[in-house]
Amino acid sequence: MPDLKETFEELKRYINDLPIGLLLFDSKKNLISWNKYSCEILNITNEDIKKNDLGITSTQIEELIEKVDLTEKELIGLIKPHKAKKILTSDNHSLVIITEAFQEAIGEMSHELRRPITNIKTLAESLLMGAKDDPDIASKFLNNINSEIDRLSRLVNDLLNISKIRAGKLQPTKKNLNLKERVQDAIKLLQPNAEKKSTTIKNETSDNFMIFADTEQLDHVIQNLIENAIKYSPDGSTITIKDGPISGSFEILDTGIGIAPEHLNKIFERFYQVDRSKAKGSSGLGLSIVKNIIDLHKGKIEVNSTLGKGSSFIVYLPVD
Ligand code: ADP
Repeated sequence: MPDLKETFEELKRYINDLPIGLLLFDSKKNLISWNKYSCEILNITNEDIKKNDLGITSTQIEELIEKVDLTEKELIGLIKPHKAKKILTSDNHSLVIITEAFQEAIGEMSHELRRPITNIKTLAESLLMGAKDDPDIASKFLNNINSEIDRLSRLVNDLLNISKIRAGKLQPTKKNLNLKERVQDAIKLLQPNAEKKSTTIKNETSDNFMIFADTEQLDHVIQNLIENAIKYSPDGSTITIKDGPISGSFEILDTGIGIAPEHLNKIFERFYQVDRSKAKGSSGLGLSIVKNIIDLHKGKIEVNSTLGKGSSFIVYLPVD
């Protein structure tokens, strides 16, 4: 049975430890919440803010941000209840203000994060108000809480991975790996997802196909591509993983909804989603993480797709 208090504490720790500065303002633009990294960037202590000695408002924060050297660090200021108002980051040592599309994506992301939190709160309140006395209902609600927490951790993990990549902390440790075994492990892990949709996953990779990659990162790529293939295919579909057209390449093939040509180049961008209603609980970060991992391996990823017929993702990794 999941321990709610412990999970909330863990979530609070995640947010506090994120390598992104998060600041939350109330409608009067007073700072009401913050995490550790924002203090570090702004060069103020947690205690300073706690005592409210600074009496900080969002305008002052913006002035402070302007004075801070952001060549190595990144700060995101979220202003509530409005959407993210000002987002600054460093890019090749020059300061840029990120485009509106990205601002909106951050807003969407906070929305995605808030949804499972609201659901968990409603379920927990119902339990406290009496549902806990009915063992059947209590167990159903706890199961729902558990899956909402899984969804939340997926989103937070995606965010953490993307910040690690951006901070250059995801360097691969490559070794020779047997592709068939890696694919088999991924299939085993994703079997529950596949079963829910009566999806068949076929591992048709050659027995002795060796691939030179970082185990954890290759697993991430394979799992993510198979997970997407399940997610974006109708019930009863078949997904095939097989050797690619040249040595060192492999292909993940589905018979799903497909992707229209105008979206094909964009799906590897951070937060890009073709149709949000079809990607509930997803962040739009999956393929950008996959692409970043493949770039780190000096490989490439290609996608071919026909709307309504299916998609094929081919991963090419250097063989040495
Ligand atoms: P998400 O978290 O939304 O799945 P991804 O970065 O993994 O984000 O994918 C970006 C978008 O690309 C998805 O929202 C979906 O629209 C599209 N997509 C990815 N894989 C597939 C696929 N196998 N079939 C159809 N569409 C896909």
